[in-house]
Amino acid sequence: MLNQMIYAGKTVAGQGIEFEVLNPATETTITACKSASREQVDIAVAAAKQAFSTWQHTADSSVKAMLEAIAADIAKERSEIARLISLEQGKPLAMAEMEVDMGLYWLQVTNNLEIPVLEERDPMGKTMQVFHRPLGVVASITPWNWPFMIAIWHIIPALKAKNCVINKPSEYTPLSTIYLIEIINRHLPAGVCNVLLGAGEVGAALSSHVDVEKVTFTGSTPVGQQILAASVDTLRSVVLELGGNDAAIVCDDVDVESVAEKIFMGAFLNAGQTCACIKRLYVHENIYDALLQKLAAIADQQVLGNGLDTGTTMGPLQNVKQYTKVKNLIAEALEQGASIANQKLNAVPAQGYFIAPTILTNVAADSAIFATEQFGPVLPVVKFSNLEEVIQQANQLAYGLGGSIWSSDLNKAQQAAAQMQTGSVWINSHADVSPFAAFGGWKMSGLGYSFGLDGLLLFTRKQAIHFSV
Ligand code: NAD
Repeated sequence: MLNQMIYAGKTVAGQGIEFEVLNPATETTITACKSASREQVDIAVAAAKQAFSTWQHTADSSVKAMLEAIAADIAKERSEIARLISLEQGKPLAMAEMEVDMGLYWLQVTNNLEIPVLEERDPMGKTMQVFHRPLGVVASITPWNWPFMIAIWHIIPALKAKNCVINKPSEYTPLSTIYLIEIINRHLPAGVCNVLLGAGEVGAALSSHVDVEKVTFTGSTPVGQQILAASVDTLRSVVLELGGNDAAIVCDDVDVESVAEKIFMGAFLNAGQTCACIKRLYVHENIYDALLQKLAAIADQQVLGNGLDTGTTMGPLQNVKQYTKVKNLIAEALEQGASIANQKLNAVPAQGYFIAPTILTNVAADSAIFATEQFGPVLPVVKFSNLEEVIQQANQLAYGLGGSIWSSDLNKAQQAAAQMQTGSVWINSHADVSPFAAFGGWKMSGLGYSFGLDGLLLFTRKQAIHFSV
């Protein structure tokens, strides 16, 4: 079992606290790991800094070839990686395979990007060249919901821009990330890509380290705020991909039959544990009953179970903390007068952190389920009659990650999309991210961007060279 750290090109046992990685579908231990001690964090950062002195000068063509070799190994070992993701994260195997495929797609698109050199000439006749230089040691801190894919989102652009990376995966799901970094180390020089294990204290030691030039973080808003606060001492650059509470607005000109399944998936993908899942569904009063009925029927068709079992369509919540949080939010909404629109709430396995998909109606406007990022398989559905008013309502929260407009009138949908206060807006889909478009949250949902050339260039700093003759 891959349960150790990798730094300076070596597999190393942690010298810190022991922690267990559980299968959330069975609550049984997959393996035990040991976290990094403070000294090991320092050693790993020093090794990465040392590796950077040569890695930064590697020819573009060599970096490209190495990333291609990594992609080839991931493709070859797809089944084993997917099995590990499903085991530690809980998602159905087919979705874990999709996670590997999406990671590969992102890797390949990012590897084909070219980092530009800008040539400028001013009216005084002066010539300048603006280069994008690598930063140095990048710390990458990742969450437990899409552990393999998000690790690729962080690590590949950092390497492509010729930085060295130290990843710290979530303590709940480190195994598929260790596998990825083991593959990467087959093809890259020692110390260029490293992984340290542990919980928040290891993340904090790494992200505040004086020799770390950038932190790329995907996780909750409170932890993102701590990372930003810790960046002040060295003015370290920080990209934060944080929590969301996305609204979807469904107009009355949609074909209910054809959108219901897509809306359901937009809300319940990965048992709702996706930052940009639909968390508030606003439906026009003319189609409210029809869509609600359809969504309830789809919810009741779900088969909850171990992700590795054939036929499972929805896995458990990934950990007991998240399970308890979602359970409490549902209970509180029900106490405040909400009702559940679907029926099969008891069809959950006896063991494991399972919550059946829950569609709520009549949720009180001040219910915590609206204001908090619930990150679970729950969908409050709200009736509306006026599009302008509902957009205001959707924009009321401090989160601004994603949103969607559902309509057969593209012009109307585009005008509505432009009024959404979110980093991404989808028309007739949701959470449909692309490696070609910048992805980032507005307001409390993030800082900076990932993906595309915008995201890649945030792993560089500009250097302008001025020529005078
Ligand atoms: P989390 O913030 O609890 O943990 C994320 C990572 O940060 C983990 O590796 C954790 O060990 C580490 N960490 C914890 N405390 C730290 C500290 N003080 N300093 C440095 N690192 C620390 O988040 P989570 O529960 O693992 O993941 C769920 C959250 O991630 C949700 O809020 C979700 O919306 C967000 N998320 C956002 C995106 C996005 O792209 N915007 C994508 C996926 C998940």
